[in-house]
Amino acid sequence: MKTEFSPAQLADPDIAEANKILRACVHCGFCTATCPTYVLLGDELDSPRGRIYLIKQMLEKDRPPTQEVVKHIDRCLSCLACMTTCPSGVHYMHLVDQARVRIEKEYVRPLPERLLRAVLAWVLPRPGLFRLSMILARLARPLAALLPAPKAAAASPSLLGRIKAMLALAPGSLPAPGPAGGSVFPALGTRRGRVALLQGCAQQVLAPRINQAAINLLTRHGIEVVLVKDEQCCGALTHHLGRDDDALARARANIVVWLKEAEGDGLDAILVTTSGCGTVIKDYGFMLREDRDFAAAAAKISALAKDITEYLGSIELQPAQQQSDLVIAYHSACSLQHGQKITHAPKELLSKNGFVVKDVPESHLCCGSAGTYNILQPDIANRLRDRKVANIAKVKPDMIAAGNIGCMVQIAGGTSVPVGTRLSFSIGRQAVLGQD
Ligand code: SF4
Ligand code: SF4
Repeated sequence: MKTEFSPAQLADPDIAEANKILRACVHCGFCTATCPTYVLLGDELDSPRGRIYLIKQMLEKDRPPTQEVVKHIDRCLSCLACMTTCPSGVHYMHLVDQARVRIEKEYVRPLPERLLRAVLAWVLPRPGLFRLSMILARLARPLAALLPAPKAAAASPSLLGRIKAMLALAPGSLPAPGPAGGSVFPALGTRRGRVALLQGCAQQVLAPRINQAAINLLTRHGIEVVLVKDEQCCGALTHHLGRDDDALARARANIVVWLKEAEGDGLDAILVTTSGCGTVIKDYGFMLREDRDFAAAAAKISALAKDITEYLGSIELQPAQQQSDLVIAYHSACSLQHGQKITHAPKELLSKNGFVVKDVPESHLCCGSAGTYNILQPDIANRLRDRKVANIAKVKPDMIAAGNIGCMVQIAGGTSVPVGTRLSFSIGRQAVLGQD
């Protein structure tokens, strides 16, 4: 695609990067077929190609984002299916990330929306506050039924619709918190390795059993696990809201504590059990490429970051001692399949642990979770969830496995089939076997 940035504009490293990305796009439109919002809404401006064009216009003309640009960028799930499909290697993620930052800085949203986004950005990365908010949401849930239904034909989601969506996502009960940062879990038997395990923010409140199962499995296979003290939310949540100052501050803080751990007792990897976080940590190197003080360290941390299934693929797991005919529908989280290009390892892990694994039709399409998307765009998110659940039902599973806590919560909201992570089933079985 031809671009028309001035030399002065190209002196800005972000614009230079955007220019490189835009020039790679040949307007072929292949990406439209796999874009969930285009598939649902059929509007070119809700397709990757349409959004790329809108971003190009905004950046080239150096003008503030218009309401139309914001509407279509807000509707993007950042699922990155377009990046998997694109034959020209267009790095849509870095382009839309840049657009979101510009929108956040230059576009004045209506006050209720500003407040809602500020609350989400403040509460979600803080596990203590998030736990409290979940308890309050659970208490307030009966009130949701009393709230009037939002107008179906509204151009953008109403605050009421978003509050209802938030209340609907609150779980019926919360498990006890998992182990605190600073805990070290020694390897059982001979030590073969040492890893840090990302504690996460929403996941440690909603499902601490996932990391507990990972710790059980890793230590049983001779891997020492450390939960690094003073680690923070990885920054993914605020990064996707366009609040890069917050996201980069969190990235820097994590880099400092992880490097200290790596240079102290040593780390073979930083393991992540929530793929949305893994995608962002693997991008720290890019996000901080212009920061002289952090660029090299960020690249080092990104290289150390691994999805847990990647790491488990590199160590020899004890064979499963049980087979079963339980059918697991594997939901491939977008951040795992499109963001990190990890598609086979989770399924292999499940198969090796004795389950019958089935792929879900239209597996490239997002379930609608996408960070805070199911709160900010509840109508589209619900349609995507219903479509996902209907596709899952086609393989008649006994259980559903996913690689991301957001997907688990989202899918569980539309089905009575039990939902867990691809890890909790495999690791759960491995861990149980280990205790036998
Ligand atoms: S598939 Fe790639 S090159 Fe083609 S329009 Fe989409 S982003 Fe551009
Ligand atoms: S990230 Fe997903 S929703 Fe956004 S343009 Fe690409 S395919 Fe469409």
